[in-house]
Amino acid sequence: MQDSDRLALHGGPKTIKEPFGRYNSIGEKEAQAVARVLESGVLSRFLGSWSDDFYGGPIVRAFEEAWADRFGVSHAVTVNSATSGLIAALGAAGVEPGDEVIVSPWTMSASATSIMVWNAIPVFADIEDETFGLDPAAVEARITARTRAIVVPDIFGHSARLDEIMAIARRHRLKVIEDAAQAVNALDRGRHVGTIADIGVFSLNYHKHIHTGEGGVCVTNDPELAERMQLIRNHAEAVVATKGAEDLSNLIGFNFRMPEMEAAIGLAQLEKLEVLTASRREAADQLTRGLSDIPGLRPPVVRQDCTHVYYTYPLLLDAEEMGVSRARVLEALSAEGVPALMGPYANLHLLPMFQRRIAYGRNGFPWTSGVYGGEVSYEKGICPTAEDLHDGRHMGLEMCAHTYTEDEVALVIEAFRKVFSGLRALAV
Ligand SMILES: *Cc1c(COP(=O)(O)O)cnc(C)c1O
Repeated sequence: MQDSDRLALHGGPKTIKEPFGRYNSIGEKEAQAVARVLESGVLSRFLGSWSDDFYGGPIVRAFEEAWADRFGVSHAVTVNSATSGLIAALGAAGVEPGDEVIVSPWTMSASATSIMVWNAIPVFADIEDETFGLDPAAVEARITARTRAIVVPDIFGHSARLDEIMAIARRHRLKVIEDAAQAVNALDRGRHVGTIADIGVFSLNYHKHIHTGEGGVCVTNDPELAERMQLIRNHAEAVVATKGAEDLSNLIGFNFRMPEMEAAIGLAQLEKLEVLTASRREAADQLTRGLSDIPGLRPPVVRQDCTHVYYTYPLLLDAEEMGVSRARVLEALSAEGVPALMGPYANLHLLPMFQRRIAYGRNGFPWTSGVYGGEVSYEKGICPTAEDLHDGRHMGLEMCAHTYTEDEVALVIEAFRKVFSGLRALAV
């Protein structure tokens, strides 16, 4: 064996010697936009009472209009995070204490905790291992008389099986909320992911394709849902009497308001959306070309007529074919200098909160409350595909962590090829 073939883990030379540059979407345009807001002196114009300023300042409104235009929806409601957006969406959708809401275990925790904010019960359904979205058959099997809604994450930047899930939801009169936090500008049969369900929620946090530091946008074509989200965003309880609102349910308001500077940054970011998501897609396509012939490794699947935006680049491993565990492979790749490796992912049902059923207070609320009469399970085994993937078959690369120039991607490919041809050495 030549010394250059020796794995870095075993003292050989590292494939990636210099750290990659940080992914940075912020530039001169954003700086100028922020400066203009500062000069105006109006950093937010929201008022938590019924007046023209209830809907926020001029830049917040311009950003909402631009977002709705860009995504082809009638209403965009900005918020201070996607977490806030999910809370507003579930409240607007009429989720009540004791209701069950079906959600994926493979998502960020806020997809499930936003359900609990309304004292409803998250019910986890299994995912499919092609694109890691909710499995429609698993969703249908979880529906009970208590089910009110479904939260569908478009995880990693690929559309979930939304047409099938929407058909099931319509049959059972359930509301569907798309958590499109990772999937901005992803397409599914020509439609923007995030705009297919009753409400879609995008994230603008620092780690996403485009961002405003912190922020989020909810979209819907239903004017009533839009209005309820606007109320929940901005102190609904203080507004309903003067504004006039018939249905008071869930109109406990929050302060989920986006400031003007963030909206100004958002407007500049929106103009870069296509270029920025295309750059992640190009890096991912290059990875796929370089990795697809490696035995034991399966690059991501993109379903027909879908566009993946690769918030992360997921890979499937075949431990039997490889003869070593994922943990060993990750260790070896990391030693070669590959950054932003991920695995294992999520499995929310196994979080301590669900295992011990302790959320609000110490006594098991909301599961033990009189209003919940169901029998949800969070046992290991309820989501076999998600668990199997978690336990060793899935790994990935965070694509919004680094720039990933063509040369950098070539180095990542080289590191994978080196590690996978050295698997025998890893096994011992
Ligand atoms: C990032 C993310 C969120 C939360 O977004 P914030 O804007 O940070 O609140 C929710 N769901 C998913 C799937 C995410 O990736």
